[in-house]
Amino acid sequence: MLKLTDTTVKFGAFEALSKINIDVQEGELVVLLGANGAGKSTIFNTISGLNKPASGEITFLGKRVNGYSPDRMVKEGIVQCPEGKKLFPDMSVQQNLMMGGFVHRRHKGQLKDSLEEVYELFPILKEKRENAAGSLSGGQQQMVAIGRALMARPKLIMLDEPSIGLAPLIVEQMFSTIKQINQSGTTVLLAEQNANAALKIAGRAYVIENGSVVLQGRSEELFNNDAIRKAYIGA
Ligand code: ADP
Ligand code: MG
Repeated sequence: MLKLTDTTVKFGAFEALSKINIDVQEGELVVLLGANGAGKSTIFNTISGLNKPASGEITFLGKRVNGYSPDRMVKEGIVQCPEGKKLFPDMSVQQNLMMGGFVHRRHKGQLKDSLEEVYELFPILKEKRENAAGSLSGGQQQMVAIGRALMARPKLIMLDEPSIGLAPLIVEQMFSTIKQINQSGTTVLLAEQNANAALKIAGRAYVIENGSVVLQGRSEELFNNDAIRKAYIGA
């Protein structure tokens, strides 16, 4: 579905990504694991068209999409849920969600259907739909961010560190919802430092260090890999 081939990204003289190779099949849930500064968000920003690769190729559904603008990528079916949520804190929950729905030309009925689907996934957001997004708890704000991305009806959703700053119990609920999103037919690319939680729901993983893929494989293999346990699981 998505394929990055030898993709290199530079910020001035600094090479943030060095010949990255990543592929995601339709229907998969794949995680990019890596510490702060490894290059996970840069990979997402490159796929979503915010960064232009210096070299290499990105294809989506068989089409070369290098250099496409971010709004074009959303129309192609890739939506990013950015690190740090980036909500409009003074706007209501529902207004924030609706922001995600305006990328396609759709009529009111279709937007309402999408909104109801998001509320089915996150019932608490329906209860709080008139509240200012900024007044919600961290976990609920993350739900708004994911819900807003889903409003664009992505084929592939990229979730950038959705567990950051959340209590362990909330992380567990969040990850089970992410799995549910995947099982209902949306391909998921997840960026995480929480290897323990992420490897439990992902089918495959790539380990990113200093802008390179240093390891890849099935989640259960990586979960049992000593180096990974030491570096990312702490056991
Ligand atoms: P991660 O998401 O894995 O924490 P990032 O992709 O945010 O890592 O960052 C990877 C590296 O690229 C870091 O060294 C970061 O400082 C650098 N970087 C990211 N974005 C930019 C930018 N716009 N300009 C310059 N350097 C950047
Ligand atoms: Mg990041």
